[in-house]
Amino acid sequence: MKKVLVSGGAGFIGSHLCTRLVNEGHEVICLDNFFTGSKKNIEHLFDKPNFRLVEHDVIYPYCEKEIDEIYNLACPASPIHYQYDPIQTTKTAVIGAWNMLGLAKQTGAKILQASTSEVYGDPVVHPQPESYWGNVNPIGERSCYDEGKRCAETLFMDYHRKHGIRIKIVRIFNTYGPNMLAHDGRVVSNFVVQALNNKDITIYGDGMQTRSFQYIDDFIEGMVRMMDSRDDFIGPVNIGNPGEFTILELAEKVIKLTNSKSKIIFQPLPFDDPKQRKPDITLAKKELGWAPCIPLDEGLKRIISYFKSVDV
Ligand code: NAD
Ligand code: UDP
Repeated sequence: MKKVLVSGGAGFIGSHLCTRLVNEGHEVICLDNFFTGSKKNIEHLFDKPNFRLVEHDVIYPYCEKEIDEIYNLACPASPIHYQYDPIQTTKTAVIGAWNMLGLAKQTGAKILQASTSEVYGDPVVHPQPESYWGNVNPIGERSCYDEGKRCAETLFMDYHRKHGIRIKIVRIFNTYGPNMLAHDGRVVSNFVVQALNNKDITIYGDGMQTRSFQYIDDFIEGMVRMMDSRDDFIGPVNIGNPGEFTILELAEKVIKLTNSKSKIIFQPLPFDDPKQRKPDITLAKKELGWAPCIPLDEGLKRIISYFKSVDV
């Protein structure tokens, strides 16, 4: 049994991770300020003796005597949320990572950083291997998130080199599944909720931009394998589903699977919206023996039944 701290544990990904770790019998501390996360996502864990919820903002230091592992997930992930207060986003990404690294240094814990495919920006190398340095605008509206996450990777590497902290960096590609907020603006949740309500499906731009979508269960498996991997494999490692779809294809799939009467409408493309995204997962396959197994159609069916069950 390990003592594990999950920052951002009440969010979409964090709640799935906390559930898995608690079910495996680990002692779990969930740290969250509830900016985008909610108690509802983790209320099924409240009566478990091995689960503790602490309301805390990671831009302030956090003390705990003994911890074996830290998953640093705290950070809003959807453009509408991370752009709502961009200065707080950069602080969360950078100072939050710094505080969690400080905690790892103090306790000797191993620490995993939830980085992102956004470190590749609007990539000119396709698909994206971990060796690609990216094409990121440092002064745009997405920069608070993209550059915050890039700086967090730098901090992780420097704590590792300077202080010998055991680190792990995963670069997460677009992930979807139950516990996503219905109205958090991400494309899968937007389209499913619009389709279930027979409302117009809002495609930004011409819909020819691509993304690779992974189902949450696949991602959690990859991230836990990364945490459990040998100490000298620190990443960064891409964790994503290499299946690549245009946003128009996604809209058409969602309409078909929900049997919806929704029409597709086209709206302006947000500034700096990446044109393409597809992970090269050679490294994850080799080092973690991991590859996703849930295809997009199957994952969409699951998230559609989730959103039906919560009555959006
Ligand atoms: P989410 O918004 O559902 O979860 C983020 C959690 O962090 C929320 O519970 C929120 O309340 C909490 N949080 C935000 N700021 C905080 C702060 N200052 N102090 C404490 N808690 C704070 O997002 P998610 O999709 O679950 O993403 C989790 C992590 O994975 C994030 O770091 C995100 O950048 C990364 N990621 C996610 C995706 C994806 O597709 N979901 C892709 C790439 C990277
Ligand atoms: N998008 C869209 N309609 C929506 C929401 C998003 O066409 O209602 C597009 C968005 O412009 C982007 C893609 O879908 O090209 C993925 O957007 P999301 O915010 O989910 O993820 P990210 O851009 O961060 O990869």
